[in-house]
Amino acid sequence: IAIRRPALGSAATAFMAKKHQMLIDGKWVDARSGETFSVEDPATNEIIAHVPAGDKADIDLAVAAARRAFETGPWSRISPKDRQRLVWSLGDLLERHADELAELEALDNGKPVTNARRDDVQGSIDMFRYMAGWATRLNGEQIQVSTPGNWHVYSLREPVGVVGQIIPWNFPLMMAAWKLAPALAAGCTIVLKPAEQTPLSALRVGELVTEAGFPDGVLNIVTGFGETAGAALSLHPDVDKVAFTGSTEVGKIIVRAAAGNLKRVSLELGGKSPAIVFPDADLDLAVAGTASAIFYNQGQCCTAGSRLFAHKSVYDRIVEGVAAEAGKLKLGHGLDPSVTLGPLVSQEQHTRVTGFLDSGRQEGAEIVTGGKVHGNQGYFVEPTVLAQTNRTMRVVREEIFGPVVCVQSFDDDDLDAVARFANDTEYGLSSSVWTRNLKVAHTMARKIRAGTVCINTHNYGDPAWPFGGYKQSGWGREMGKEVMEHYTETKAVAARL
Ligand code: ADP
Repeated sequence: IAIRRPALGSAATAFMAKKHQMLIDGKWVDARSGETFSVEDPATNEIIAHVPAGDKADIDLAVAAARRAFETGPWSRISPKDRQRLVWSLGDLLERHADELAELEALDNGKPVTNARRDDVQGSIDMFRYMAGWATRLNGEQIQVSTPGNWHVYSLREPVGVVGQIIPWNFPLMMAAWKLAPALAAGCTIVLKPAEQTPLSALRVGELVTEAGFPDGVLNIVTGFGETAGAALSLHPDVDKVAFTGSTEVGKIIVRAAAGNLKRVSLELGGKSPAIVFPDADLDLAVAGTASAIFYNQGQCCTAGSRLFAHKSVYDRIVEGVAAEAGKLKLGHGLDPSVTLGPLVSQEQHTRVTGFLDSGRQEGAEIVTGGKVHGNQGYFVEPTVLAQTNRTMRVVREEIFGPVVCVQSFDDDDLDAVARFANDTEYGLSSSVWTRNLKVAHTMARKIRAGTVCINTHNYGDPAWPFGGYKQSGWGREMGKEVMEHYTETKAVAARL
């Protein structure tokens, strides 16, 4: 059966009908080279847009514009109150165009439009509103010193400067919001490079930033590929900081590139997060929650609960339950409001995920449900439960980034032993613990080496929540008050009185 694309609303239709350009110094422009690349609907394989293929020349212009805006433009003199008002108003504008943004997100990424509206768009609105408040709360401190004589010593918090932000395709709008909101609140200027698979919602946000009244050059958006535009941005000597979300492999490239001028670096990278079900868990909750932990967003979440550990006494129930949840998912075009599982984002992802399915099969995992591509159009993969997996299998060790969960059983009651299973990974982004026992829950929270631990939930998020990874899952924390550390420098002032 052919997948048909449901119609877009009038606002999204109008946006899609426009010529798509990049935002540099307040103007919408083509790439200097004149080159473009095509953007695909991952559910139908149709070309839906052409956007500029920006490269080093465009990054140079964007960085120069951001530098001018930071040093001499009206932004360099703006009061905290006005920054707060502008960042807040961006949240209002997103809200006013929420349905349009959700449709663009579903069209470009493939995700279910109902999820896009409820999570991606609402989460972005909330992020701008939360971060707006930080604009007026960036205080230094008075510092008590023991130096002989009379001294007045204090610190100032200043914006870090020109920031390069490189974002992935799994939550295109929300990743833009996570990056833009704190940087704007802190007073930085920005060059944003959206993922080449999903540039559309960021371009729409660029229009809203202009509409909100941010001065020219405060936000610049360069669309293009990682190896060209992304590399030029992370190498650029006049960029003060780079914030990256994406794969651990590219994160390491970013670190090396940033070394040239020792720009500050924050990284949100991959994960292979454990979800651990103890025998005393509320099993209905655990089944629904661990299924959603892996199938949400087609498994394309850096926090996905991709290693599911179930105590031997509940193992069968969990495996059958999660497989039954997989069976309830409705696959189809993300713009269909009844769809709950969309396609993967690209051919590359599809090849990668199906490669892992083959590998799991070869290494002897039991395919309880799924395991195959779905249909012959778009990048659909069946939601898959692999049972009888073990720590040596590639499907257990490597990040699949698809709707594929690997279940293992444990029969230990010693929490140190359970934590060793959970921590048996080079990643440390997220985790979840399913239990009714407070001692087990909070003891595990301390033993798990990951940036976030969820108790009786997974894929949790809130703008106030410091989010980030241990180990090879990244550097630094986004959201919460912690993110403001990335976008400010501390200056210490000593005055002899
Ligand atoms: P994935 O493997 O999940 O597609 P990537 O880490 O490759 O994720 O991509 C995340 C972001 O990093 C995208 O915007 C991509 O264009 C960018 N990117 C990819 N390679 C590089 C690179 N060498 N330098 C800078 N950015 C890159």
